[in-house]
Amino acid sequence: MKMKIGVIRGDGIGPEIVAQAQKVLDRVCEKYGHSIEYTDILMGGCSIDACGVPLTDEAIEQAKNSDAVLMGSIGGDAATSPWYRLAPELRPEAGLLRIRKALNLYANLRPAYLYRELADACPLAAKDGGRTFDLIIVRELTGGLYFGDRYTKTVDGVETAVDTLKYDENEIRRIAKTAFEIAMKRGKKVCSVDKANVLDTSRLWRKIVTEVAEDYPEVSLSHMYVDNCAMQLVLEPEQFDVIVTENMFGDILSDEASMITGSIGMLSSASLNETSFGLYEPSHGSAPDIAGKNIANPIATILSAAMMLRYTFGLTQEAEAVEKAVQRTIADGFRSVDLMPREEEAAASCTVQKCDEIGARICERL
Ligand code: NAD
Repeated sequence: MKMKIGVIRGDGIGPEIVAQAQKVLDRVCEKYGHSIEYTDILMGGCSIDACGVPLTDEAIEQAKNSDAVLMGSIGGDAATSPWYRLAPELRPEAGLLRIRKALNLYANLRPAYLYRELADACPLAAKDGGRTFDLIIVRELTGGLYFGDRYTKTVDGVETAVDTLKYDENEIRRIAKTAFEIAMKRGKKVCSVDKANVLDTSRLWRKIVTEVAEDYPEVSLSHMYVDNCAMQLVLEPEQFDVIVTENMFGDILSDEASMITGSIGMLSSASLNETSFGLYEPSHGSAPDIAGKNIANPIATILSAAMMLRYTFGLTQEAEAVEKAVQRTIADGFRSVDLMPREEEAAASCTVQKCDEIGARICERL
């Protein structure tokens, strides 16, 4: 297969971790007889420096002309970077919101998987002695509060800010279908998360998700309020298979889910539209505090590349091979700094690896 992949290296650790994911993709091509044409796309702070804006029309076109986009991360330290002295619509993160909208990337998938070998890094697992879980959050990405009308103005002498939360039934139906389709390929359980005791948008959400469920009789559907879900994720994450929720709830819950696995450096993510196109990126940010030191964990980006092989290119065998190579690398005791066990005794049986060394260890196991 010939794959056309757009590559957004971005800022901070972005270029370092993307280089490792490309190394792994190249090894997959070598082993399974595929080829890749990469196109570099500028987005984020590096685009502000080069073009004055976080995302140009040309960059959007380049992304549209690719089968998929692999992204590192964008942004800098808000306290010190000059990018954050610009107007909000010119800052690095505005590029991300714009590309999501321009490419209609309405579904964001974030798996949260606890490797048995990393149980020590998870405070929940440590308590219970060796638990594991495997869930995925399907977050609506192009509607809701982040895209509603907003303004700040003075009303009767009082400074007032308004953000509007709106969803229509079509937006809810398509993300619900995505969640049920994913559940069919996993544990056949969907938990829909809302705040239907308070919000009208949530009541419509619940009604439409319930309707969509009728087309998937094999999948069991439950509903949960978002505040309870935040608690249940910490209390008993193994109860979940697929969680589907709206944009802001998904933003918060997926960060929570990422932390219960122990390290943010492990978690991949995919943003999909109604075609096979997807934007694949780690769940974490650009980590300016460790940029340029070759110590970042590249695994989230490598697992995002595996998601790309599975969801855009339908290459299940190749995706599984990458995931197994990651698992074996961890099982063999190779760890980036963030994954080193806290206990001295356990740490002694592991080998600290630089970012590029982790990439190399994974390639060796492919
Ligand atoms: P962050 O995720 O970049 O970093 C949080 C902490 O986790 C830091 O201590 C960092 O060193 C560590 N960390 C993150 N990724 C790591 C990795 N792969 N290996 C080892 N350690 C890792 O979050 P932040 O500091 O809040 O944000 C930094 C910048 O990233 C900000 O400009 C923010 O807006 C941006 N950001 C971008 C994205 C994106 O590109 N999608 C997502 C979140 C944040």
